[in-house]
Amino acid sequence: GGAKVTYRRVMLKISGEALMGDQGYGLHPPTVARIASEVKSVHDLGVEICMVIGGGNIFRGLQGSAQGMERATADYMGMLATVMNALAMQAALEARGMHSRVISAIRMDEVAEPYIRRRAVRHLEKKRVCIFAAGTGNPYFTTDTAATLRANEMNCEAIFKGTKVDGVYDKDPNKHADAKRYDNVTYDEVLQQHLGVMDASAIALARDNNLPIIVFSLDEPGGFRGILSGQGTYTKVQ
Ligand code: UDP
Repeated sequence: GGAKVTYRRVMLKISGEALMGDQGYGLHPPTVARIASEVKSVHDLGVEICMVIGGGNIFRGLQGSAQGMERATADYMGMLATVMNALAMQAALEARGMHSRVISAIRMDEVAEPYIRRRAVRHLEKKRVCIFAAGTGNPYFTTDTAATLRANEMNCEAIFKGTKVDGVYDKDPNKHADAKRYDNVTYDEVLQQHLGVMDASAIALARDNNLPIIVFSLDEPGGFRGILSGQGTYTKVQ
C-alpha cells in the first residue's frame, strides 16, 4: 500500500525458536524461508535492516549448565548456535535475491565477518542486511542484550521484537482469556512488573539510550511490513 514508512533503519530480533516451526528442535527451512520473505517485504520499502537471531532452538547456556556444564562454556556453545541460525537466514535471504552479511562477535573468518562497527554501518548504507551473530561475544548475556547493543551502535530507530503474540500482555494470553494487551508500556513498568519482553539487562540498555522496543507477532503474515507502515497491533515499550 501507499502507507508511509517512518523508519529508516531498524533491528529485528527473533528467537531461535521462531525458526523451528512446529518441530521441537533445530531449523525448519520453510519457516526460515517465510521469515526471510517478511524481511524482504520490509527491505523493499527501503528500510535498512539489522537482525539478531537467538540460538534457543539449538542450545541455551542455562540448559547446559543445568546439566552440570560450566556456565561460560555452555554460553559459548549457545553463541555458536546463533551462528548456525544466522547462516540459515543468510541463505534464505540470498535465495530471495537480497544481499546480506553475517557479522560475528566471535572471530571465525572463514564463516562470517568479524564485527567492525564502521564496516557494518557501511553494509547497511549499501542496503545489505546485517545479521549479527554470536550474541555479544560474552557469556552471561543473551541475544536480547546483543540486539539492543547492536541497535544502539548502528543507530537503529527501534528494535522490532518478533514473538508469537501481538504485543505485551499483563498475563499470558495463551493461558488467560481476559489477558489485556498494552498499546504502550514504559521500560520501568516492564522491569517492575516483570513483563516478559526481554531480559532486564536488555531493557535497561534500551531505556538508558531511549531505544524503543516494538513487540509484534511474527506469526501474522505480512505483520512486520504492516507494523512498519503503521498498521496492525503491537506494543511499544518506551
Ligand atoms: N549467549 C551468550 N552471550 C550472548 C548471547 C547469547 O552467552 O551475548 C548464549 C546464551 O547461552 C544463550 C544462547 O547463547 O542461552 C542462545 O541465545 P538466547 O538464549 O538469547 O536465544 P533465544 O532465546 O533468543 O533463542
